Amino acid sequence: MIEELKEIIKNGRKIVFFGGAGVSTESGIPDFRSENGIYKTKSEYGMSPEEIISRSFFDRKPEIFYNYYTKNLIYLSAEPNDAHKALAKLEEQGKLTAIVTQNIDGLHQKAGSKNVFELHGSVIRNYCMKCNMYYDVSYIMEPGNCENHIPRCKNCRGMVKPDVVLYEEPLDSGVMSKAVAAIADAEILIVGGTSLVVYPAAGFINYFRGNKLILINKSETAFDGKADLVIHDSIGKVLGSVTSC
Ligand code: ZN
Repeated sequence: MIEELKEIIKNGRKIVFFGGAGVSTESGIPDFRSENGIYKTKSEYGMSPEEIISRSFFDRKPEIFYNYYTKNLIYLSAEPNDAHKALAKLEEQGKLTAIVTQNIDGLHQKAGSKNVFELHGSVIRNYCMKCNMYYDVSYIMEPGNCENHIPRCKNCRGMVKPDVVLYEEPLDSGVMSKAVAAIADAEILIVGGTSLVVYPAAGFINYFRGNKLILINKSETAFDGKADLVIHDSIGKVLGSVTSC
């Protein structure tokens, strides 16, 4: 099956990759929603992580939000794995046109990918809520820039908010429409590291009108029956071997 995928990619163009949490777990970042993911564990505050990472909680108790967020959602030492690297290489070769990801870790860009649509935002980017000044993730991790865990703008002392889509917040419509356009225009869609059961993943796949739908995931997905090729294996292992000589 890997040989078949190799052949498809070798002759392919306009490839789009749609990735889920499984792409990041292979870099040591926990899956938010899986059986052992952080969302199953009750937080040290006695409430669920979903509640803490929601917009209403952020507005109500920002000090607890930031304390939890910086401890549990930011993995600055994580490095791109073979999947990230393979996709960056395919873009450089002019085969891959876009990556659509549900992950917020910025690892695709760290691997060198340029055209990445991050449906849930990115922990790397942060903006002052008052004056919109940009801050890198290292800024909000520095205790000297925070008051009571809350990162403050050095310009106007406003709160610096991560550019991450919190629960109760809508997805960015600009990012969404670009992602949909890329998928609608793709000839090959590779979906990896997602079981496609969580919103909004499945909806995006429905825009695909191209030739080959390829699913790579360790376990079965809701779309296995509709795909041209299904590989139940590690995304890093599969994509790594496909793009190697
Ligand atoms: Zn500011």
